[in-house]
Amino acid sequence: MRRISIFGATGSIGCSTLDLIRRRRSAFQVVALTGGQNIDKLAAQAREFQVELAVTADPARHNDLKAALAGSGIATAAGPEALIEAADRPADWIMSAIVGAAGLAPGLRALRHGTTLALANKESLVCAGPLLMAEARAHGARILPVDSEHSAVFQALVGEDMAAVERIVITASGGAFRDWPLERLAKATVAEASNHPNWDMGQRITIDSASMFNKALELIETHEFFDIAPEKIETVVHPESLIHALVGFRDGALMAHVGAPDMRHAIGYALNWPARRDLPVARLDLAQVGALTFRAPDPARYPALRLAHAVMAAGGLTGAAFNGAKERALDLFIAGRIGFLDMAAAVDGVLTRLAGDPALSAAPTLDNVLHVDQIARDEVARVTAA
Ligand code: NAD
Ligand code: MG
Repeated sequence: MRRISIFGATGSIGCSTLDLIRRRRSAFQVVALTGGQNIDKLAAQAREFQVELAVTADPARHNDLKAALAGSGIATAAGPEALIEAADRPADWIMSAIVGAAGLAPGLRALRHGTTLALANKESLVCAGPLLMAEARAHGARILPVDSEHSAVFQALVGEDMAAVERIVITASGGAFRDWPLERLAKATVAEASNHPNWDMGQRITIDSASMFNKALELIETHEFFDIAPEKIETVVHPESLIHALVGFRDGALMAHVGAPDMRHAIGYALNWPARRDLPVARLDLAQVGALTFRAPDPARYPALRLAHAVMAAGGLTGAAFNGAKERALDLFIAGRIGFLDMAAAVDGVLTRLAGDPALSAAPTLDNVLHVDQIARDEVARVTAA
C-alpha cells in the first residue's frame, strides 16, 4: 500500500487525483487531505477515504470541519502552520495542488522528509525554483511534474541526455480570448475569462490561461525544473491542445507528447511513475482529429510572455515578485476592481519598480521568497487605480 497525501484535495487537480485513487482503492492509503473553504467537500473526501487527518487552510472554519467530521475518528487541524505540519505525516507520495504561493511551504516540508512530490503547484517553482530543487537534492526526494506540458517534456526525455536537447517547445491553447479582436480585451469580464475552450480547471488558472500568465509561469517552470536556458524555451499557440509539449534534439528530431486534454493523464503518470498503468482518458482518433494547427503567439495580445522572459533574464528572486504581483492583480480582476489588461500592466509596473531592489538579489531562502512575494503584492496597489 502506498501512503498518499493531497494538498489542495478539494480543487480541480485534487479531485482528479482522488478519482484515480478511487479506481485502485486497495493500492493506496490516503493519509492527509487539505482544503480551503469547501468544508463539505473536504469532509466527504476525508470520510470516503478514511484518512488520518483533514486540514482546512482557514482557522475560522476549523469548528465547521470538526463538526462535519464528528464521530469519524479523523483528526482535524486548521491554518497555514497546520498545512505544513500535515506534510510531516509519513507518506510515500504527496500531491501538491494548492493554488498559488501558499503551496510552497508545505511542498518544501514534504521534500525535507524525502517524500516524492507530484507538483501541480507551478507557483512553487516560479517563486523558489532553486530552493525547491536544492531541497529535493539534499534529501534525495524526487519532484515529478504534473503540469501537462512539463509531464509531456518529462516523458519525452525518458532515456535521453539533457546535453542533446536543443529546445523545448511549450504549447499554448491561446485561452478564452485567442480569437477576440484586441480592442475588446480591455472590456473582458471575469465570467468570460473563466471559460476555457479546451480544459476544465480551477478559476484562477483558467483566467491565467486567457491572459497567458499561466503560460508565462510555465516557461519559468520549464527553466527551473529542467535547468534549461531561457533562449531554448519556445511557445507556440496550438488551439487544439492535443500536443502538450515538444522536445527538440540536436539531430533535429522533435518528440511530441500527444493526447486528449485530460489532467488525469499527467496526474496518473506521476502517480504510477516509473510504471505506466491503464488510465481512464479518452483515446484520440487521429483521423477524426484531422488537423493540428500552430501559430506564433502575438506579443501584443500576450504581454505576459515577454514578462516571463524578462523575469528569467533578471534571475534571483524576480520570479517571486512576478508571481506575487500576478496573484494580487488577479485578485483585483476577480473582485472587479481592475480590467483584464490592467493585470499585465500592473505586473509590468511592479517589476519595473522593484528592479534593482536588494530584496530580489537576497539568498533564495523561504523567508526571503515570502518577503519578496509580500512586497510585490503590496506594490500592486501603487501601480493600479484600484
Ligand atoms: P483549484 O482552485 O481548483 O483548487 C485549489 C485548491 O487549493 C483547493 O483545494 C483550495 O481549497 C486550496 N487553496 C486555495 N487557496 C489556498 C490557500 N491559501 N492555502 C491553502 N490551500 C488553498 O485549483 P486547481 O485548478 O486544482 O489548481 C491547483 C494547482 O495546480 C495550481 O497551482 C494550478 O496552477 C495547477 N494546475 C492545475 C491544472 C488544472 O487542470 N486544474 C493544470 C495544471 C496545473
Ligand atoms: Mg499547463
